[in-house]
Amino acid sequence: MSHLIRGLGASGGIRVVAADTTELVRHATEKHATSPTAGAALGRTLTGALLLSHVLLKHHRDRVTLKLRGDGPLGGVIADAGLDGTVRGYVSNPHADLPLRPDGKLDVGGGVGHVGEISVIRAHAPYGEPYGSSSDLVSGEIAEDIATYLARSEQIASALLLGVHFDAKGRVTSSGGVILQALPGADEAALPLLEANIKALGQLTSAMHRAPLTDIVRNELMWGMDFEILTDPPLQLRFACRCSEEKALEALAYFTPAERAAMIAEDGGAEIVCHWCGDKRWLGPEAILGISSNEVRCPDCATLWFRDGQTRMVREQELCACGRKVELPN
Ligand SMILES: [Zn+2]
Ligand SMILES: [Zn+2]
Repeated sequence: MSHLIRGLGASGGIRVVAADTTELVRHATEKHATSPTAGAALGRTLTGALLLSHVLLKHHRDRVTLKLRGDGPLGGVIADAGLDGTVRGYVSNPHADLPLRPDGKLDVGGGVGHVGEISVIRAHAPYGEPYGSSSDLVSGEIAEDIATYLARSEQIASALLLGVHFDAKGRVTSSGGVILQALPGADEAALPLLEANIKALGQLTSAMHRAPLTDIVRNELMWGMDFEILTDPPLQLRFACRCSEEKALEALAYFTPAERAAMIAEDGGAEIVCHWCGDKRWLGPEAILGISSNEVRCPDCATLWFRDGQTRMVREQELCACGRKVELPN
């Protein structure tokens, strides 16, 4: 089972969050049928979002969304995670792939792209306004981009390890991540030791083939320092979406009644694919016809402005996609 631990080391000077995401990333790459490069990017981003949630969030129902948008063929990678251990995510072009790098590793940086933006959005459930900030990509390798984002936007000095390893058949054999954060007042001698330990560890995913992640953190990354685990038992992690028939119907409501009637006449219904998890949902004529036609649309371009129960609201006087001023009846 995928799991996450939190701990404190070096007399409270170093905060550690570590996640073994092997099973959940395997599940996610199978659901999205990703290429190896896309799967590695997705796995690193899912793991990175889970780690970030434990660095940036405070309340159980808050969520963090991590987005990397570069100029590479993958298009964009996005993950949404919470302190409850759930995460979901996708790659815009899951089938895009690149040749291996000269050193034999997957070219995640080339897939994401070296020029672009990393953004982190925090949503405070259930009512708070989402808060986001962003910085430039450094390498597209994801761990380095997240660490640089944390330093620039959050003034958090950290080292971040992320990795996904596949076997010859393209199946995930190990996936995980560790964030090591120097807290204010950290012992001066602890940081060079930590740096040396990180260097000595080498590839996190190779280490995960020989030892459980908790042992790697305690015996290798925190070697020569005290370490106390704060999560006992570890937090269970899983790839979980929040899609439902209700949300699928809401997505269909953005089509005009005439377009929905055409779906029924031509296809006998509609198949809605959730981009977050890849699940397909079939909506039959009855469900589609049950969508309320009590709605207000733009007279010029038929964009949906308002309908009962709609969550994405358009405001009075805002501009419609076509440029017309939105007018809602009272
Ligand atoms: Zn879904
Ligand atoms: Zn319009």
